[in-house]
Amino acid sequence: MTNCIFCSIIKGDIPAEKLYEDDKVLAFKDVNAQAPEHFLVIPKEHISTPNDATDEALLGKLNTTAVMIAKERGFSESGYRLVMNCNSDGCQSVFHIHLHCLGGRQLNWPPG
Ligand code: 5GP
Ligand code: ZN
Repeated sequence: MTNCIFCSIIKGDIPAEKLYEDDKVLAFKDVNAQAPEHFLVIPKEHISTPNDATDEALLGKLNTTAVMIAKERGFSESGYRLVMNCNSDGCQSVFHIHLHCLGGRQLNWPPG
């Protein structure tokens, strides 16, 4: 989709620090990290919000990809948070779904 920053990253028009890529998903570091470890996993298909996401296999793949990377990067045992924001109340700011993975420090709960 045009005017989508994450589609531009997928196309290679905008640089990103990529951690994993295959035909379905891309993972890259969040440019404004909120924790020592903070990356995003996105589908290569443009899907605007979690409300529009119906492909269960693809949604599962976002999750398993995040876990794989957390294991590879050595913080799966200390722990992490997976979160997908939706629309205004959820503070979604990029309207191409993305699973955040945050770790590397003690996270606060509830997040507020
Ligand atoms: P949201 O608030 O939509 O759940 O999260 C969007 C995330 O995307 C934010 O954490 C923000 O820092 C990240 N982000 C926005 N633009 C870019 C970008 O151009 N490159 C990277 N790597 N991350 C981005
Ligand atoms: Zn997009």
